[in-house]
Amino acid sequence: MTKIHTCYVCKKTFTNAIYWYDSIHDSKYDKRLIKPFCGPPCANKFREISDENSYPAREKPWPRGPEWQIIQDIDYIQYESD
Ligand SMILES: [Zn+2]
Repeated sequence: MTKIHTCYVCKKTFTNAIYWYDSIHDSKYDKRLIKPFCGPPCANKFREISDENSYPAREKPWPRGPEWQIIQDIDYIQYESD
C-alpha cells in the first residue's frame, strides 16, 4: 500500500516523501510531530513562514521511547502532524 502524504505547506498530496520536518530536532515540542513537504521549495518555504527557527535545537540526549524512534522513511510509519 502506498502512503499518501499531504504537504504541510501547499497541501498537495504526494507519495514517496523525501523531505519532512521532525520535531525530534526541535525544542519547541514535547511530542513527536512530522510535517511532510512535497519538495525542496516547500521545505524552504516552511523555514521562512514558520517560527521553528526561533526555537533552539533540541539538546541531546534526545527523548527516548516508542514515540521517538529514529525515523528514516515516513512512507512506512504512522505519524502525527498538527
Ligand atoms: Zn508542497
